[in-house]
Amino acid sequence: MPELPEVETICRGLEPKLAGSTITAAKSNTPKLRIAMPTKLEQKLKNKTITAIKRRAKYIIIELDDELSLVIHLGMSGRVTVTKNYQAKKHDHLVLKLSNGQTMALNDPRRFGLVALIPTAEIDSDKLFVNLGIEPLSTKFNGAYLANLIQKRHRDIKSCIMDASLVVGVGNIYASESLYLSKIHPEREAATLSNKECEELSKAIKQTLKAAIKAGGSSLRDYRQADGEMGYFQHSFKVYDQSGQPCHKCKTAIVRIKQAGRSTYYCPNCQI
Ligand code: ZN
Repeated sequence: MPELPEVETICRGLEPKLAGSTITAAKSNTPKLRIAMPTKLEQKLKNKTITAIKRRAKYIIIELDDELSLVIHLGMSGRVTVTKNYQAKKHDHLVLKLSNGQTMALNDPRRFGLVALIPTAEIDSDKLFVNLGIEPLSTKFNGAYLANLIQKRHRDIKSCIMDASLVVGVGNIYASESLYLSKIHPEREAATLSNKECEELSKAIKQTLKAAIKAGGSSLRDYRQADGEMGYFQHSFKVYDQSGQPCHKCKTAIVRIKQAGRSTYYCPNCQI
């Protein structure tokens, strides 16, 4: 599943290929992904110029010159490609021909993704976005912000940092990695974290996500960037999927547990 770093990588890859181009033709090949495709999508996109590519949580936001934004979520298996020599593929649900000779295609075999058209000024208040927590890479997200966010939370800290209504984009891999970096046990009750630990954890979350973005995203399966290159952050996990391997810091064997049905990996010696 594409996570925040993959989506950020995709947005950065799309920006130079799409921004400034006009959509000369749009073709929608399906009535519905996770939600219905927008009505009259093809007509509404035609002759619109793409002004910017942005990301909020795991949504790709393609801003158009008429104050509408084309919003794409990749779900479990979605992929956006931009090519000069487009050849139609099964599961290409939305295809945009661009004035620069490129063709953008959204392919999603499992159809858990979505496409929406939202007035750009109303994105923050739209139902898809209104309940989303803070962006972890924003300057506003820091130790004090995190401490305030979790001060009354009695759940474990891992489930708090993975709760998109609190902070977006910290997926299962990044949660394990960030908790390891900040030496915090994943089962700690969130409210018991000190201010210093919140500072360390907020820094670790940023560091982990930035490293993944730098490496081009981390997906474990068949994920490719917009230019077709595979992401490769999976080679640098410190604890994720490393059960039984020695901790990088103390050589204690990394342990795997289940939390809320998901695997968590941690060092039982370093993380308290
Ligand atoms: Zn250790």
